[in-house]
Amino acid sequence: MDGESHYGSVPGPDPDTWPRVLPAPSRLALLRAVEEADSEFGEVIALLGACGVADCTPYPVGVIDRLLLQAYRAVLHRDLEVVVACPACHVFNALPLGIDDVPGYSPRSAWCGPGIGVREPTGADLADLPGNGEEAALELELRCRIGPAEGPAAANALDRIDQSLCGTVRVACVECGAEVSEFVDVQHLVTAAIAEAVADVDTEIHLIASRYGWELATIESLPDGRRVRLAALAGSGI
Ligand SMILES: [Zn+2]
Repeated sequence: MDGESHYGSVPGPDPDTWPRVLPAPSRLALLRAVEEADSEFGEVIALLGACGVADCTPYPVGVIDRLLLQAYRAVLHRDLEVVVACPACHVFNALPLGIDDVPGYSPRSAWCGPGIGVREPTGADLADLPGNGEEAALELELRCRIGPAEGPAAANALDRIDQSLCGTVRVACVECGAEVSEFVDVQHLVTAAIAEAVADVDTEIHLIASRYGWELATIESLPDGRRVRLAALAGSGI
């Protein structure tokens, strides 16, 4: 480590240009996005696409995770939080994970020695990694190499610049002050929550189709609010 150039720019779009607010997408568009993805990260790309981020893969992972918190707020009209029981007094504590609760993003790279270093991974760097965890970590480190020198980068070099929102969150219990901690993975939490939130769209379409016999395309073109109301009417048998 030369100790001098720990911070540098990350290739791709200027991280300062990422949108701070995302528009609320159609729930049908979200359902399709979830259905067509073949992996969790594929779902991330599709969900952000439905929220107006045409291609998130050039962004650093730390930016993508913060975009997901914006998407969560746009779809569910509240911020992500995880509820955990205190290990000492068993009172439930909310761990807030809104965009204003997590550390701000700043671009990073790290030098590991003369002429060799790593930059923060982008979404594109995560595509098509080997299934084996150890091989995947090695391949990711190779993809994120910077500098002219060859040879192994420092062990866990990528951990030093990690800005993803995946790790352990700790708060003091609101009741007794004991430490309450939980491992959280924002990509997993947001994709699972949005998939659950839009799962009833298929049921709504089925109810309307069964009751009124409309074409699928007609039903799918209905605005979200109208589809929900019509499905409720169709389901009630009125
Ligand atoms: Zn407690």
